[in-house]
Amino acid sequence: MNFDINNLVRENVKSMKPYSSARDEFEDFDTADMIFLDANENPFQNGVNRYPDPQQSNVKLVLAKQRNIKPNQILLGNGSDEVLDLLFRAFCEPKIDNVITLPPTYGMYGVLSNINAIENREVLLSNDFQPQVEKILDAVDENTKILFLCSPNNPTANSFSDESVAYLLKNFKGLVVIDEAYIDFSKKQSWMNELDEYPNLIITQTLSKAYGLAGIRLGICYASAEIITVLNKIKPPYNVNELTQLRALERLSHPDKIKSEITSIIVQREKLLKVLVDVKFVKKIYPTEANFILIKVDDANKRYNELIAKGIVIRNRTTQPLCENTLRLTIGTEVENKKLMEALKV
Ligand SMILES: *Cc1c(COP(=O)(O)O)cnc(C)c1O
Repeated sequence: MNFDINNLVRENVKSMKPYSSARDEFEDFDTADMIFLDANENPFQNGVNRYPDPQQSNVKLVLAKQRNIKPNQILLGNGSDEVLDLLFRAFCEPKIDNVITLPPTYGMYGVLSNINAIENREVLLSNDFQPQVEKILDAVDENTKILFLCSPNNPTANSFSDESVAYLLKNFKGLVVIDEAYIDFSKKQSWMNELDEYPNLIITQTLSKAYGLAGIRLGICYASAEIITVLNKIKPPYNVNELTQLRALERLSHPDKIKSEITSIIVQREKLLKVLVDVKFVKKIYPTEANFILIKVDDANKRYNELIAKGIVIRNRTTQPLCENTLRLTIGTEVENKKLMEALKV
């Protein structure tokens, strides 16, 4: 495939240069003994009186090492929601271009297409929640810039077949974004191992789910160095704050702890799946590769309200396409799940 990222970048972005912060020019100096009177900061040290590293080099180095990728193939954002927004703003011309999403899926793709005045072409998943590849390719025109694949998908909890994803990567000439927010709960490998194979591939991940850091807002984008360069031109210079960078570094230095939490969540998931089989109002339990379970029940609104009355909040997905009378249950701690299981045995 003859792929040139410049054919996809918006005209106004092409001519932009990355914002140069006061300190960018001194990267190669030994900065320890320098006096910084360039950024109008308060000089009294309190840990966060200086602007954060706009390139988050320390966090990227750790991620690069752990994921076996180059630092210049990483962009970090204020949650993956910011990363997704940057993709719209770099590649989609308002009121002209369009994107394709596959409902039922993560709501932010639709929200961001609205905010950015980009047409969102929705191609429903099949009844077993897989991409309908020919229908997707039929929906493509010369202004289709991005195809969003969420795998494992929220709220359906399954991942997409490798064949479908590979077929779309080969046959769609725009960018294919694979949102892997839940990849750590799946047995499947991340598609980031295929970045060298597909120049139009973009992976988003997050520290919000498996890594237990939803509160610090750190989203990750892995792509070719060319794509990352484009995104760097338009990102707000200090989009990832110092506290977030420090907290992420601390957490990433304990991979065993993260792994054991993921294992525990998966153990709890399998327990809950077994209990659900015997709950009489549960009509269907969908396969899950995430930290949540989607179930079809007799009356979603009724069962949702019953659980609320018992002090348990879950997500009612009944209004989503293909999701009539479904509920989404996040896996909690062992204690929380026991309470949920008791509440379900009406
Ligand atoms: C939770 C979730 C995210 C996470 O977004 P952040 O902004 O990084 O917290 C991204 N994609 C999907 C599909 C999600 O469910």
